[in-house]
Amino acid sequence: MPIQILPPEVAAKIAAGEVVERPASVVKELVENALDAGARHIRIEVREGGRRLIRISDDGSGIARAELPLAFARHATSKLRALEDLERIRTLGFRGEALASIAAVSRVTMMSRPADSPSGVMLQLEGGVQTRQSEVGMAPGTVVTVENLFYNVPARLKFLKAPATEAGHIHRVVTRYAMAFPEVRFHLKLDGRDVLQTSGDGSLYNVLLELFGPETCRQLLALPEQDIKEDGASTQVGVSGYVGAPTLHHAQREHITLFVNRRWVQDRMLAAAIAQAYHTLLPAGRYPMAVINVTLDPSEVDVNVHPTKNEVKFRDPHTVFRMVQQAVRQALLEKDSIAAITLRSEERMPARTSSPAETGWHQLAHFGFEVQRTLDDTDGGQTASQTRLPVLRVLGQLALTYVIAEGPDGLYLIDQHAAHERVLFEEMKRHCAAAAVPSQQLLPPLLLELTPGQAAVLEAERATLSQLGFEIEPFGGYTYRLCAVPEMLAWGDPAMALRDILSELAEGGIPPTRRADERVITIVCKRAAIKAGQALSLHEMQELVRRLEQCQAPRTCPHGRPTMLYLSAAQLAREFGRI
Ligand code: ADP
Ligand code: MG
Repeated sequence: MPIQILPPEVAAKIAAGEVVERPASVVKELVENALDAGARHIRIEVREGGRRLIRISDDGSGIARAELPLAFARHATSKLRALEDLERIRTLGFRGEALASIAAVSRVTMMSRPADSPSGVMLQLEGGVQTRQSEVGMAPGTVVTVENLFYNVPARLKFLKAPATEAGHIHRVVTRYAMAFPEVRFHLKLDGRDVLQTSGDGSLYNVLLELFGPETCRQLLALPEQDIKEDGASTQVGVSGYVGAPTLHHAQREHITLFVNRRWVQDRMLAAAIAQAYHTLLPAGRYPMAVINVTLDPSEVDVNVHPTKNEVKFRDPHTVFRMVQQAVRQALLEKDSIAAITLRSEERMPARTSSPAETGWHQLAHFGFEVQRTLDDTDGGQTASQTRLPVLRVLGQLALTYVIAEGPDGLYLIDQHAAHERVLFEEMKRHCAAAAVPSQQLLPPLLLELTPGQAAVLEAERATLSQLGFEIEPFGGYTYRLCAVPEMLAWGDPAMALRDILSELAEGGIPPTRRADERVITIVCKRAAIKAGQALSLHEMQELVRRLEQCQAPRTCPHGRPTMLYLSAAQLAREFGRI
């Protein structure tokens, strides 16, 4: 074929494809326009997953009558004049492409009225071609209705998912803007049902409450108020928002929501910064929840990376990374970060659910957070003491599983197994760092017949195991001679313990992202720890608690599960109606 310039309508549809991938893209662009127009109230109405109808109404600035047709021209924008303006861009839009793209692949009706006009203008386009224009009576603002999306792009139509799936994407988009703009009232209606409504009172926490409910929000930690000036940094970075306590974890990364200058972005680097701040606080393979906005000078970030504007490039990514991680870490380290156990109280819980079975101990499952620095951290040492436990007085054992203790400020229920795991884990790491793990010689040595799988793991982890105090010699085939074990394993059946450890290592339950030796230590400590169901003497419990008090991270086990629940004195008083 000879080279030819494409007919404009073909070029327009191809270009539109970059911006409008699916109904949710239309919602995104139109909501962005409403926000850029200074709207305080945005209504979004969707039918059949957006394929049939998408309508966005706002109370923003509106468009002057004379400019209305221009708004649909490609590369027509009121937000940017020259290339340099990109350096200062504070609006969500700037490419002047969205309306043109949407109009090219649907039937669009736009009604708009600036506040100083007595009436509005209605404009209709079909496949990008204007079909009608007329005067309308309307409140100040703009209403854009998009119908028959992709009616003239069969390829796209074919790739649309079920209406419920597309509606889900739309819901996610609106959710993100609601979080980024808490001062704006959002209202989303799907097929006539109200599915999302925010108050627009300016509080991000209230938006999160609306989106995720009180159960989740109780486990959120506000990022500390930040002084954004950092010595020596070339960039001033503000970080704000909420992160979940380590108790609030998910299988997917997508619960990390990131904004840069209130623009939702996907950024693997920042997501990694957040995940890293939780190191050893979360069970392996689980991700935290976070809603974080990064504020920095527009000249520090390039938003023009992709037509959808969901990716950004930082001029100084390292500083941004560090600042985000620091903010999250600090929130996690904050004092008193064990949240009080929430007992049922009338003002919070509907009366109908307060059957006796659901009250009381069951409620203890609402335990709170924990936190602290990881052992191999070199920074932030001075804050570690804040997360340490106060001195506790042991009162007794419950269900052969929990130690009941009293602190200066309330009641502590300690999981004996999880707590002991934590104690052994930290002690073992300390010994390893000093290359002085106490080891117990076995006299005579034990002969051990392993399975091929166990033997393979043994060979693979040999170095780490010997570092931890195991002395194992090959004895031909899959037989080995166990000459010494870490002291913590010496009291039971050492051969059985080693077999269990090798089997667990072979299962690979903990993903290889954890450092290999940490993984082995975790498993050894788990095997060596006191089990639930084991009766403990008062002295043993005191000893356990005393060693837990010494821990850097007493409040979670090495897998990230909580070691304790806490009920504050104030809460007890409240629950008993004393205050
Ligand atoms: P961009 O947002 O990149 O400027 P768009 O194609 O999305 O490009 O919009 C073109 C122009 O139309 C905008 O620059 C703005 O001036 C105007 N506009 C679009 N939607 C609205 C709205 N809801 N309220 C006021 N003005 C709008
Ligand atoms: Mg726009």
